[in-house]
Amino acid sequence: MTHHADHPDDTDRGADPALHARPGTRAVWAGEHGGFMDRATQVPMVGSVAFGYDDLDTWYEVATGAREGHIYGRNTNPTVAVFEEKLRILEGAEDATSASTGMGAISAVLWALLRPGDRVVSVKDTYGGTSKLFTEFLPDYRIEVELVDTTDHDAIEREVARGCDLLYLETPTNPTLKLLDLERLSAAGHAAGAVVVVDNTFATPINQQPLALGADLVVHSATKYLGGHADALGGVVAGRTELIERIYHYREINGATLHPEAAYLLLRGLKTLHLRVERQQHNAQGVAEYLEAHEGVTVVNYPGLASHPQHELATLQMRGFGGMLSFGLEGGLDALARFFPRLRFAHAAANLGAVETIVAPPATSSHVECSPAERAALGIPEGLLRYSAGIEDLEDLLADLDQAFAAR
Ligand SMILES: *Cc1c(COP(=O)(O)O)cnc(C)c1O
Repeated sequence: MTHHADHPDDTDRGADPALHARPGTRAVWAGEHGGFMDRATQVPMVGSVAFGYDDLDTWYEVATGAREGHIYGRNTNPTVAVFEEKLRILEGAEDATSASTGMGAISAVLWALLRPGDRVVSVKDTYGGTSKLFTEFLPDYRIEVELVDTTDHDAIEREVARGCDLLYLETPTNPTLKLLDLERLSAAGHAAGAVVVVDNTFATPINQQPLALGADLVVHSATKYLGGHADALGGVVAGRTELIERIYHYREINGATLHPEAAYLLLRGLKTLHLRVERQQHNAQGVAEYLEAHEGVTVVNYPGLASHPQHELATLQMRGFGGMLSFGLEGGLDALARFFPRLRFAHAAANLGAVETIVAPPATSSHVECSPAERAALGIPEGLLRYSAGIEDLEDLLADLDQAFAAR
């Protein structure tokens, strides 16, 4: 978004040659035909908080949205605007806006669009922070939230048909890699008059395009795959202009603004998004197949395995199966505590989507706030390890797992 309600019109936007290019070309070029300061080929990091005007009329026009430009960094910033434009084009959206974190973006969507008396339908397996908004915060504002079994599409449709103002979906899910059928559920949401929101963090726009499948809004934790280097927090929302304007307006007042330095790092990361995702899912497939054949493993969750209960949906809905998987270790939490510190080419950390492989037990990361019984109900055994495949050489990752198993 540029300042206030006024954006370049569609003819201007159509001028970006990346608009009709393939995903890799979009990742590199989208939003980068701007003619930057001093003919810089790279998007400059503009740290300035304010933008000055000596002419009162121009200042007034920019401040009231009649003319394009920037006023104050909490509202808009040139570096941040390029990040938003790149994501707008990558997601095939009419408009996009950003936030300081993924949770900042998700909160802005919910607080901008929901009012007391509204009803949200979502699933039990959403990201931990999102789930906290649903169970801890929204009910205080008299917003009803119904969280349905993620594996039961009929039940989701039934709840939506009972009345739904906002249908919130996430696929594949964290950490058990369950899938939601976006085309089917978007249609159900629209039949009930709901706004359909999809968290596309795990799939990335390279593998999945929720808006093309019928969703109204797509959200990301840019902290993960979009940035890809685990050195910048960020969030983004893309979709129809009418919705994005309301979300931007809430966020500019709420103040959870994306920092220009983070936008700069995210833009640098985005240029290799397609290369990273291709390599990460190549590695994830190899690791998943290796683990599935290992006698020390109880279960492997990866949509690219023929044994995944929704492998066919994954093939239809996604271009690739992504870099995330999870697996259960024979021997539960004790075996897990001994196993993961032995991995030499994996950070043990509460993060994902980076160039390095990262492992995390849900019991200490994504689902730390759940009791063991609540985790069990979500199909998360205590011995489960989430595995975010990096871009290393697959042979080394497999050898690393081998030595960690051998030392058990
Ligand atoms: C990390 C994550 C979020 C939250 O993003 P932050 O940038 O940490 O605020 C939301 N959804 C998913 C699927 C995530 O993995």
